[in-house]
Amino acid sequence: MVNTELTFKDSFGSLLVVMPSAINRLLDHRQLDSSSNEAAGVLIGERRGSHLVIYDISEPGKGDIRSRYFVDRRGPHHQAAVDDAFARSSGRLQYLGEWHTHPEDQPSPSSTDLGTWRRHLVAQEQMVLLIIGRKQIWAAKKVAEKIVPLLKV
Ligand SMILES: [Zn+2]
Repeated sequence: MVNTELTFKDSFGSLLVVMPSAINRLLDHRQLDSSSNEAAGVLIGERRGSHLVIYDISEPGKGDIRSRYFVDRRGPHHQAAVDDAFARSSGRLQYLGEWHTHPEDQPSPSSTDLGTWRRHLVAQEQMVLLIIGRKQIWAAKKVAEKIVPLLKV
């Protein structure tokens, strides 16, 4: 169990904060044994000026396509989690991006990941990308067409 938040920043000092409630659930999906499949979901949180705070996630479920080196979060429950959070918080909690796991210690995006984000994650505002490795978490933001990796604080 993690009790403190995880913080990342970009080169302008804008922060990405992942709250313990979200971190612990993300870490639960790490591909720690040789038969575990990739997992994926959405990130839900709040925009505070140029800073982003992740409070909640959606997790794998019915309809998702998963294998050792591939995941496609097709299940309708992901969007339902975003809609629920938005309604419960009167619009404060929103869809902020995507997470998935990799079966490697220090994860980095595959060319498939980069292509998928470029094509499907189209937004006016900056969006968050997380890859949960076995030992580390890779974090980035998508700003317009650019993927900007973040540094752990
Ligand atoms: Zn990937």
